[in-house]
Amino acid sequence: MKIIKPSRKNKKLIIKTAVEKLRQGGLIVYPTETCYGFGVDGLNSEAVDRLLKIKGFRKGKPILIAVADKKMARKYVKINKTAENLYQNFLPGPLTVVSQSLHKTDPRLESKKGTLGIRIPDYPLVLEIIKKFNRPITSTSANTSGGNIPYSIKDALSQLSEKKKKMIDLIIDAGRLPRRPPSSVVETTPHEPILLRQGEIDFSQLKTKTVITNSPEETINLGQELVKKRLKKNQPLIFALQGELGAGKTQLAKGIGLGLGIKQTITSPTFVIIKEYPFSQGTFFHLDAWRVESEEELLKLGIEKMVQNNNVLAIEWIQKSRKSLEKIIGRKNTTVVYISVEHLSENSRRIKFT
Ligand code: ADP
Ligand code: MG
Repeated sequence: MKIIKPSRKNKKLIIKTAVEKLRQGGLIVYPTETCYGFGVDGLNSEAVDRLLKIKGFRKGKPILIAVADKKMARKYVKINKTAENLYQNFLPGPLTVVSQSLHKTDPRLESKKGTLGIRIPDYPLVLEIIKKFNRPITSTSANTSGGNIPYSIKDALSQLSEKKKKMIDLIIDAGRLPRRPPSSVVETTPHEPILLRQGEIDFSQLKTKTVITNSPEETINLGQELVKKRLKKNQPLIFALQGELGAGKTQLAKGIGLGLGIKQTITSPTFVIIKEYPFSQGTFFHLDAWRVESEEELLKLGIEKMVQNNNVLAIEWIQKSRKSLEKIIGRKNTTVVYISVEHLSENSRRIKFT
């Protein structure tokens, strides 16, 4: 059993070693944004044998796999529209999307219905390992069946007998991980998503609607309607906007401002990061995370203080600040509306929102 602690200098070595072990059918313990996991090659039945041995009795419970991106996921499952939306809005992140399996992976990883759960961990080192390996790896918590969630290597090893410890070929020890719940698991084979296990992402976030707008005005109107529908007294409201440059995120924010009765013109905050506008009930903060270097920076800007009852936030480039946002939305009674804007043609946009 080999233990490596990630540092600034050894990234290449870790990737190389992990891929080597996985290619040999070995078992690795690796960190993710939720907890430590056991990883073996999901296409190698001997490797899956070892995993099942170390995990212990599982009563035919399926085992999730981790892939590097949606393109890789497509090799192993059929991604329908419902799943497509979830990949777009939440992955990489603490969500497992269950789809119809293409039966390329070991059958013991699937449910009895022939579905397979796939996740893209929000952990760049692990994504690089999977990309290099170019095969899916199992993504199951590094504990024995029914044991405590492992947030440190000590948590993981303390549950294993000496014999089982010897079955581990490599441990990537990233220290103590934040105690985040295991990924939410959502089934997508019926067309409405069904939440099978709730982690940080809850059901209200998973239901998305799609609207096509054919002019900036229509997008502004949608922003206006959405804020009127979602605003509640004595609660913070956050609009998390994602989409490429020029997609129309700022147009939506303009609509949000109008919906709140703000007379001042809402202009892009790209260069100042935050603009703030008072309205009758509270303050509207319009943020653009495009130039924000790190999540810490966003926290330093005081985003936590902005999330107060009766305030409204619209955050563009939410991809860049999702972790900070998650710390905040972990709080009860904050409504978060996830919106993605996609450029279809010069004047039309596909807008999905929760
Ligand atoms: P972002 O903030 O996402 O970078 P902006 O909202 O600043 O994007 O820019 C979107 C651009 O696309 C604007 O110039 C807008 O006039 C144009 N546009 C054309 N059609 C639409 C539409 N249906 N919805 C929103 N914007 C549109
Ligand atoms: Mg913008």
